[in-house]
Amino acid sequence: MSTSQPPVPEGPPRPDRSPPPAGQTPAPAAVASAGGAGVPAGAAGVPSPAAPVDPPGSSDGRPAPPEDPAAVRKGRPPVSLSPSRASDFMQCPLLYRFRVIDRLPEKPSEAATRGTLVHAVLERLFDAPAAERTPLRARSLVSGQWDRLLESRPELAELFAQDEGGERLARWMSEAEALVERWFSLEDPTRLEPAERELFVETELESGLRLRGVIDRVDVAPSGEVRIVDYKTGKAPRPEYSEGALFQMTFYALVVWRLKGVVPRRLQLVYLGSGEVLTYDPVPADLERVERKLLALWDAIVRATATGEWRPRPTKLCGWCDHRARCPEFGGTPPVYPLPVVPGR
Ligand code: SF4
Repeated sequence: MSTSQPPVPEGPPRPDRSPPPAGQTPAPAAVASAGGAGVPAGAAGVPSPAAPVDPPGSSDGRPAPPEDPAAVRKGRPPVSLSPSRASDFMQCPLLYRFRVIDRLPEKPSEAATRGTLVHAVLERLFDAPAAERTPLRARSLVSGQWDRLLESRPELAELFAQDEGGERLARWMSEAEALVERWFSLEDPTRLEPAERELFVETELESGLRLRGVIDRVDVAPSGEVRIVDYKTGKAPRPEYSEGALFQMTFYALVVWRLKGVVPRRLQLVYLGSGEVLTYDPVPADLERVERKLLALWDAIVRATATGEWRPRPTKLCGWCDHRARCPEFGGTPPVYPLPVVPGR
């Protein structure tokens, strides 16, 4: 992984995800980067189980993939894997169970909600003609997108229910605006024409395992080279945690490769919190390795689903876990396991 600048890509505008107008000339590539994150090159892979993989609040604003109809109700065995849920299992199998099998509710957090808001603003900004994608315009979108978010998820209002004077909300909004504005020091949206935004992807591997997720932005160069871009509202990870960041991106690269038959030329993480851009250029061997790891992970999930043995794995991240009260590591008792158990599997 590196912080170098991509030779890659812009593609024709497709704000509505419909095919581009014939003959439209894509803008030239332009991506800025900031200070070195020190992430080692050539480190693509899957995080070890002990590594903090998708840190708390992780959701980082990423919209969840559409619910799999077969897994919406409580007590259904999992049928597919997304990067977030794979990371949950690697972080703590019991956390995975609480989220995927028991589907226990979790309180919204200011950090994750701010991430959702910032993602919405960055996505909507591309609706405007290129020359109008300015910091001023982006900031002006923040409050409208917050209203839309509240409309679609009224439970988010509870975040600021005790904030009678509105100071906390005002501070939170200005933090979101600052993150949006920082993006302009990292990329130049007047010179970008994403091929896709908030793209839901899903594929089935030969083994039958279904992989799914949502990619923030896909750029396609005139040469056909694909760049996958992900926005993070947090800070770039320290080098020892870079595998976690890469995991999500190589997961998406694998899905795109399986869907389109093309290995993405570049994976790019844009860290708005620290003003850094991390990039990695995957090769097929990286993605084959990720596929093998995902299959092994899925085997472990299937086994735990059948036996009901979801071990807690306490780490520093427990501090952000909503389920401590029912976690045996903290003196709690998990709810009755809702699936039939096959002992000794
Ligand atoms: S508190 Fe820690 S060990 Fe317990 S379920 Fe949550 S993440 Fe796992």
